[in-house]
Amino acid sequence: MKLIILSAPSGAGKSTIIHALMKKDLKLEFSISACNRAPRAGEQNGVDYHFLSTEDFKQKIKNDEFVEWEEVYENHFYGTLKSELKRIESKGHHVIFDIDIAGGLNLKKLFGDRALALFIMPPSVQELERRLKSRATDSDENIQKRVAKATIELSYAKDFDYVIVNEVVENAVVSAEKEIRNFLNK
Ligand code: 5GP
Repeated sequence: MKLIILSAPSGAGKSTIIHALMKKDLKLEFSISACNRAPRAGEQNGVDYHFLSTEDFKQKIKNDEFVEWEEVYENHFYGTLKSELKRIESKGHHVIFDIDIAGGLNLKKLFGDRALALFIMPPSVQELERRLKSRATDSDENIQKRVAKATIELSYAKDFDYVIVNEVVENAVVSAEKEIRNFLNK
């Protein structure tokens, strides 16, 4: 099993790119993270995330059930369960992660050459803010938090294996697919 890590500031278009990549014949399976936030409209437990209570999440940290976890926003915890990676490995698939920058870099450190870390770069912070507003899933306050965090996160792009600028999503998918194929064929 190899690991494909896609990290980006919130709103850079990473989920759209992941969905497109999963339709290709790359044998990629999505790593379903655990988190303690409420599901958004349309999100399903066990499909988009394993939605846990804060108490359950903290218990799993204590039990050492996570490969990695982060408090991505204040009181909002997200993490990759060891059981999730075992599930995907047992199917003989590769795993693709939608994960924040810190988590992505942690996984890369843990898995080294078995992992390809791609940074999805928004064309600009202004464009990122516009996309978050048009998505209309987050409050104004949350959007401001995400924009502030993104500004800092962009400086970590250099620590990833490749940076993919998401100006036109179809082109970003083509670039990501090319890097992934090269990596899986190595
Ligand atoms: P959202 O609330 O928009 O679904 O996700 C917020 C952020 O948490 C995104 O940047 C997403 O990539 C990140 N995230 C999702 N799952 C994980 C995970 O398992 N670990 C870490 N470190 N971040 C995650």
